[in-house]
Amino acid sequence: MLNLKETTNKTNIIIALALTAFIIISYIFTPYSKSFGVEVENPSRKMIALTFDDGPSDYTQALLDGLKSKNAKATFFVLGKKAQKNTETIKNIIADGHLLGNHTYSHIDMMKSSKNTIASQIYSTNKIIKEITGTDVKFYRPPYGHYFGTSLNAVNDMIAVKWSNDSIDWKHQDEEYVFNYIVNKAHDGEILLLHDTKETTVKATLRAIDVLEAQGYSFVRVDELLCRNGDKLAPGIAYRGCKFNKKPTWF
Ligand SMILES: [Zn+2]
Repeated sequence: MLNLKETTNKTNIIIALALTAFIIISYIFTPYSKSFGVEVENPSRKMIALTFDDGPSDYTQALLDGLKSKNAKATFFVLGKKAQKNTETIKNIIADGHLLGNHTYSHIDMMKSSKNTIASQIYSTNKIIKEITGTDVKFYRPPYGHYFGTSLNAVNDMIAVKWSNDSIDWKHQDEEYVFNYIVNKAHDGEILLLHDTKETTVKATLRAIDVLEAQGYSFVRVDELLCRNGDKLAPGIAYRGCKFNKKPTWF
């Protein structure tokens, strides 16, 4: 027969084990309680996610018109300060079914910014977009692709997206160069970095879409690409691409 002391010790051990299990389970599942997922039709088709940073600009509407005529979807990582000045374009991005993402208010370098500054830059931009469109923003891209793990934790309820292919179109403001780059480097599952602030990029991209669609590529939003295999996306990491039947890549 157990005495009172032994019973108390056993009870304490059981409580300690239960608490430990609860902490471990909470740690494992907490990111997924804030995760994001979308259903994607025909995930095995060849997909590319075109992403346009730093806009909207004077060239964005022409890009939207071209994308609509080709039934292509894209993702726009906009700056808060430019969104304020281009409200009609922001509304059109949403109306046309593209994904609207956040690129901070004024293109800060997150590796040189405090967590408070990062959160302020991202959430103030979300607020601006919400006021213009009524839409909540879930995705963001760190400017320059610069971040620490702690930078991403400053925004722990949103999904960070980097890229797998950088056209360097801002440097090569040459339509033929950008066109050839997009066509020659195209591959399934890529997230391609472009800038809708360059007229050469807008013209080159629309031409490249025609060529690549003829090769069987579909142009989809970043959320569709990353969730094509049914994966849920979590905050705290930056996604880079996703091939069919593979996990989304990130670092
Ligand atoms: Zn940028």
